[in-house]
Amino acid sequence: MALLLHEKVAVVTGASSGIGAATAKLLGREGARVVLAARREAELEAVADSLREAGTPALTVKCDLSNEVEVVSLVGRALDSFGGLDILVNAAGIAAFGEVAHGRTAEWRAMLEVNALGLSLLSREVAAVMMEAHKGDIVNLACRPGQEPYCSAFYDATKAFVLAFSDKLRREVRTHGIRVMTIIPGAVQTGLGAGAPGLEEHRVGIDALHPEDVAEAIMHALIRPRRITYEAIELVPTLEEEG
Ligand code: NAP
Repeated sequence: MALLLHEKVAVVTGASSGIGAATAKLLGREGARVVLAARREAELEAVADSLREAGTPALTVKCDLSNEVEVVSLVGRALDSFGGLDILVNAAGIAAFGEVAHGRTAEWRAMLEVNALGLSLLSREVAAVMMEAHKGDIVNLACRPGQEPYCSAFYDATKAFVLAFSDKLRREVRTHGIRVMTIIPGAVQTGLGAGAPGLEEHRVGIDALHPEDVAEAIMHALIRPRRITYEAIELVPTLEEEG
C-alpha cells in the first residue's frame, strides 16, 4: 500500500522531544523525508536514527528559533538536502509559569522570541518557498488558555498570537494552494513546563493526552483532500475541565 506522505518533505521544529518528536516519527513512518529542528543535537539525532533505521531519510538541523540567521539557514538546508518543502510543523515552544505579579522579563522575552517571533520568521521563509511551488501545508501548535499549572498569562498570550497569526496567514496564502492549520491541544504528557508546582499530578489526574495523540491529529489534517482545510483542531483529555 502506498504511504500517505510518499515523496513529501516535512520540516518539524521542536523535534527533539514531546509533540514534535512524535510528529516527526509519524510523518516519517508515512514516507515523508523529515528535517528535524531544535537546539539539543543528541536528542534530535536519537529521533532521526529511529527514522533512518526504518529506512526514512532524516536530516537534523541545530536551530535556535530566537536566532534569525539559524531560522533562514534551516529552510536552506531543507531545500539543499531534499529539493523542496511540502510541510512545516511549528511544534517548538517554551512555557514559563507563574502569576504576572511574579513574572520574569527574561522568561517573557524568551517565550515571545520562540513561540511568536521564531514561529513567524520560519513561517515567512517557508511560505515564500511554498508560494512559488503553489502548494504546501503549515501546521502551528497553539493551546487552550489557562488549562494547566504550567500556564501563565504571558504563555497564553503567545499562543493567542499563534492563533491570530495563523488565521491571517491562512487568508493570505490559501489562493496559492497553501493550507494553514492550527492544533489546539489540552494537557499533553511532555516535558513542557517541567518544574511547575502540581503539574505532574494534574496531568496524571486527568489522564493527559500523549504526544502521539497530537501527532495523529496533525496527520489526520494533513492527509485530507486538498479542498479541506482543518483551520483548527482542538483535542482535549476527556477529564480536562472546559476552558
Ligand atoms: P516539549 O517536549 O518541551 O517540546 C518543546 C520543543 O521546543 C523541544 O523540542 C525544544 O527543543 C523546542 N524548543 C524550545 N526552545 C527552542 C528554541 N529556542 N529554538 C528551537 N527549538 C526550541 O513540549 P511539547 O509539549 O511537545 O510542546 C510542543 C508544542 O505544543 C509547544 O508549542 C507547546 O506550547 C504546545 N502545547 C503543549 C501542550 C502540553 O500540555 N504539553 C499543550 C498545548 C500546546 P530544544 O530544547 O532541543 O531546542
